[in-house]
Amino acid sequence: MREEVLEAMLPYYKDIYGNASSVHEFGRASRRAIDDARLKAADLIGAASQEEIVFTSGGTEADNFAIKGVANALKTKGNHIITSAIEHHAVLNTCKFLEKEGYKVTYVKVDKDGMVRADDIKNAITKDTILISVMYANNEVGTIEPIADIGAIAKEKGIYFHTDAVQAVGKIPINLKDSNIDLLSLSGHKIYGPKGIGALYIRKGTRITPQMHGGHHEMGKRAGTENVAGIVGLGEAARLAKKEVAQEGKKLKALKDYFYKGITSKISDVKLNGSPDKSLPNTLNISFTYLEGESIILNLDMEGVALSTGSACTSGSLEQSHVLTAMGVDPVNAQGSIRFSLGRDNTKEDMDYVLEVMPPIIKRLRDMSPLFEKK
Ligand code: PLP
Repeated sequence: MREEVLEAMLPYYKDIYGNASSVHEFGRASRRAIDDARLKAADLIGAASQEEIVFTSGGTEADNFAIKGVANALKTKGNHIITSAIEHHAVLNTCKFLEKEGYKVTYVKVDKDGMVRADDIKNAITKDTILISVMYANNEVGTIEPIADIGAIAKEKGIYFHTDAVQAVGKIPINLKDSNIDLLSLSGHKIYGPKGIGALYIRKGTRITPQMHGGHHEMGKRAGTENVAGIVGLGEAARLAKKEVAQEGKKLKALKDYFYKGITSKISDVKLNGSPDKSLPNTLNISFTYLEGESIILNLDMEGVALSTGSACTSGSLEQSHVLTAMGVDPVNAQGSIRFSLGRDNTKEDMDYVLEVMPPIIKRLRDMSPLFEKK
């Protein structure tokens, strides 16, 4: 978490502790802080009004709220949802749950770069379609999806469009003013804010049923005493992200390109997973053919380098990534894939360090690999 974010949050754990729903001054101070953070979150994504931002406990809740909330509100209109095969499990498992409840879900395929084709979305639409949910950018391979094209189709057909932008917000500039997005999920810990806080953007007028019932918090859309410190942290992180996103993106992209060039010049049999050009500036997914991603990660961990295979939520399961499977990556390459996620504190020296410690690890593992021997 950024130092500035923590500093902004600290007073709200102790000194400014009023319940934002209380009418007294202590409560009003918390309310003002929430209003201010809402404005900053709205500003980061170019929402027309801060009232279109509802704070949640994170990206997962925002995805659940968007999909179940629309499904619930529009159940007399239709029962069909379109999503993609490469969504985060927060979307996929919500859709699976709705299938059990009687909804029909189409999981559109992606191309070899992990790109959803807008035409496939169009062709999947039926008279019963009530929602299209396609992520802004993929968390495992970084591919940025054709959100404007999908939004245009959704608008033309009068269907709500939700995008899980958890990975894209703060990494690339997003402006809802030139989009046809009705609902957008974001998360605090992806923008150097705290964990356990997120938001759902709900375009004014969108029909959605609350999923958390109780008091009248969050404009009646999400009950529960507000996590004031978390919300303040998200607001500050959003303010900083808005200011720095373009510059930061350029820096990360240069670092990523430098690193990828280094990898390909020092290690043989590597393959980039994801779009080579339409990709998040910080995400690099590479397959080291004939190896297991998990062993590379364990060895790099011993050198102080922290990496994941696929997404953090599925790592440890040894299940092949559903994203790479959907992209048609063959099992030998899918097994040996790891994801490098760069952040604002990474430097060229960090990249050089990995480029120094990694080649001997790969060599050692390949020397032991029966698959590599057969080659
Ligand atoms: N959606 C995507 C694309 C993600 O990458 C993540 C988290 O990694 C989530 C949703 C879930 O967000 P949270 O961890 O805030 O619940």
